[in-house]
Amino acid sequence: MGKRVVILGGGESGVGAALLAKRKGYEVFLSDGSSLKENYRNELLSEGIPFEEGMHTLERVLHADEVIKSPGIPESSPVMRAIREKGIRVISEVELAYRFKGNSRIVAITGSNGKTTTTSLVYQLCRRAGLNVALVGNIGYSFARQVAMEPHELYVVEISSFQLDDIDQFCPHVAILTNITEDHLDRYDYVFLNYINSKFRIAMNQGPADYFIYCADDTVTLTHLKNFSIQSNQLPISMKREVSPGAFIKDGDMYVRTGNEVMTMSVFDFALKGKHNQYNTMAACVAAATLDIRKDKIRDAVQHFEQLEHRMEYVATVRGVEFINDSKATNVNSTWYALESMTRPTILILGGVDKGNDYSLLAEGIRDKVKAIICLGKDTKKIHEAFGKLVNVLVDTHSAEEAVQTAFHLAAKGDTVLLSPACASFDLFKNYEDRGQQFKKAVKDL
Ligand code: ADP
Repeated sequence: MGKRVVILGGGESGVGAALLAKRKGYEVFLSDGSSLKENYRNELLSEGIPFEEGMHTLERVLHADEVIKSPGIPESSPVMRAIREKGIRVISEVELAYRFKGNSRIVAITGSNGKTTTTSLVYQLCRRAGLNVALVGNIGYSFARQVAMEPHELYVVEISSFQLDDIDQFCPHVAILTNITEDHLDRYDYVFLNYINSKFRIAMNQGPADYFIYCADDTVTLTHLKNFSIQSNQLPISMKREVSPGAFIKDGDMYVRTGNEVMTMSVFDFALKGKHNQYNTMAACVAAATLDIRKDKIRDAVQHFEQLEHRMEYVATVRGVEFINDSKATNVNSTWYALESMTRPTILILGGVDKGNDYSLLAEGIRDKVKAIICLGKDTKKIHEAFGKLVNVLVDTHSAEEAVQTAFHLAAKGDTVLLSPACASFDLFKNYEDRGQQFKKAVKDL
């Protein structure tokens, strides 16, 4: 082969791509505009993969036959502009992994919300059914690293729109599109349609032997579905209509049908609570059914799904006050679903860095369920403007500890304190994980 590849970005995805490309005989050079994490730097050194950090040396980058672009790098960056100008082929890390996956099958999950949860549920189902399966993408290894180091017969892959932008042949046997809401528009020229088109790329290479699972209650998905010529078998999920094939929930029971058989199960037996998790569970069950996993195995797995950290994660009950960590809710839509699943009077911890939030979407949930809002962030003006008249108590705090203590002070027995910020975290925290950890620590210290 001897093909020269340049990998842009040295995070998990870029380093995974570098390892795989090296093993497959390419001449590899990795270039990262910032500094690398120590573990990744050491790994590249020990594998003998040349790299640079803190800069992109254009003459080396432009020497490539093919560029593998990490999802964090925008098209608008000078290095990408130069690459495009020279007409060098650009692919994403998942495309490279796909090239070398052999006969293995792929279940790929994308969407604005619920990707990680649904990916984990599909994986847990496949594991329980005894399949030789690996979970890749956001949790664990990148897809490319997994293919390079420990190939499996089945990969359950979480994929962002940025990864999908640079696919070419990538074709999952089962594709799941959880939903589409406005997100990351800064990377799509502020044109929502560009982002929608990007999400639908997950199905673009599928054929008649493949499956496309989508949420029929999501108006954006439904409106745009007809504009794409999808060749695979479409399997909708819904709570509003009786779809078949596909899955739906009616009167507290879930019905799943992909072939001739129907599987039913009460939603009261779902391990994961909340309406959004019912959608995620349905999607995962449909995927499992297409993989011919037996009904009793599916039922068993759904009853034992493990909750994920920072996503509607139950933390503790302190003197009758329940604490829930939904730090991963970094947009309004996620917080909407979190509120939707609240059954007790709620004290909501909200705020951080907002990516242009329209808070009016939360007004109804807040009016009905929230007795106090604790703002956690540097700039809380928009939250005050949006909800000042809807709740009696609206307090500003500047640390997780202060937020938890204030919430606990305001809470009565039987209340829930919910951290579901609808915002990114980097004004006060390293990332959403850090915010969630600090929240949990503050609860444990009460
Ligand atoms: P992603 O990987 O797409 O960011 P996660 O599974 O990590 O999604 O969940 C992030 C947040 O989104 C959760 O905290 C939850 O509040 C919300 N959420 C999860 N699933 C859904 C869904 N199907 N629809 C809407 N919101 C969801």
